Amino acid sequence: MAKGKIIKALSGFYYVQDEHEQIYQCRGRGIFRNRKVSPLVGDSVVFQIDQRNEGTITEIDPRANELVRPAVANVDQVILVFSSIEPDFSPLLLNRFLVLIEHKGIEPIICISKIDLLTEKQLDEIKQFSAEYQQIGYQVLLLSSETNRGVEAFRPYLEDKISVFAGQSGVGKSSLLNALNTNLSLETASISTHLGRGKHTTRHVELMEIGNGLVADTPGFSTLDFSEIESDELADCFPEMSKASADCKFRGCLHVKESFCAVKEKVESGEICLYRYQHYCQFLEEIIERKPRYR
Ligand code: GDP
Ligand code: ZN
Repeated sequence: MAKGKIIKALSGFYYVQDEHEQIYQCRGRGIFRNRKVSPLVGDSVVFQIDQRNEGTITEIDPRANELVRPAVANVDQVILVFSSIEPDFSPLLLNRFLVLIEHKGIEPIICISKIDLLTEKQLDEIKQFSAEYQQIGYQVLLLSSETNRGVEAFRPYLEDKISVFAGQSGVGKSSLLNALNTNLSLETASISTHLGRGKHTTRHVELMEIGNGLVADTPGFSTLDFSEIESDELADCFPEMSKASADCKFRGCLHVKESFCAVKEKVESGEICLYRYQHYCQFLEEIIERKPRYR
């Protein structure tokens, strides 16, 4: 019996890497089908070596979490790429992504890209946003894949972790990955001509090695609706509100119309950013109406 991590799933095979970086092409066992679980990229597994580089997965370790798109288990962090410009930085969209990531219980890291395109004044504005998010407790990095500014400082964040990149298209996710690993040369901007790319099933995922880290080859959080979030869970997806809500007078306070609400008090005193609170209210309304909106 050997232990390893699934780094790729393709056509019914799972590619398992052991601690010596050796890769085995494995089948899952029938027992998984009966139990209605199937191995996922990112899973830590026990496998039996059948032949030189082939094996059978016999056990899946309990998962810390799992994403559906891309189908990856044990995701340590989501690298949320947001452009500072082209397209313009959108706190509303950022908060939407953050809520979805928080709800999954995964750590987000915010990368604000394309800072080479900013004027001094625009850069100051972005730094202001960055400081506000850092105040909440988020890690925020400003970088440019064009000039490489900030790229080396970002690299250590990927070490020994499984990461999924997320963010609107065109924000520079592929460019950032290329800047980190010149061997990758992912297609940027233009529509990928890679055979069958985009037509892959959700099971068809690969983890790429960047330094000692693993990064999913497809971005996550492509649907941005809140269909899985209940109204009473939303405030917990805003760390600063979650913290403040301990002092609300009423249990189950939704921080809208209630009196003696500690969240609203902190919004009034400026300790909680007004726009974060306004977006919370907007998302809450959306959840109550259950009509997904896409910005
Ligand atoms: P993705 O859709 O998120 O993968 O975005 P891409 O990496 O394909 O980038 C979209 C466009 O933005 C491309 O034309 C890139 O050349 C450009 N781009 C990406 N990062 C930067 C950056 O840091 N600075 C500048 N000036 N352009 C960038
Ligand atoms: Zn409250």
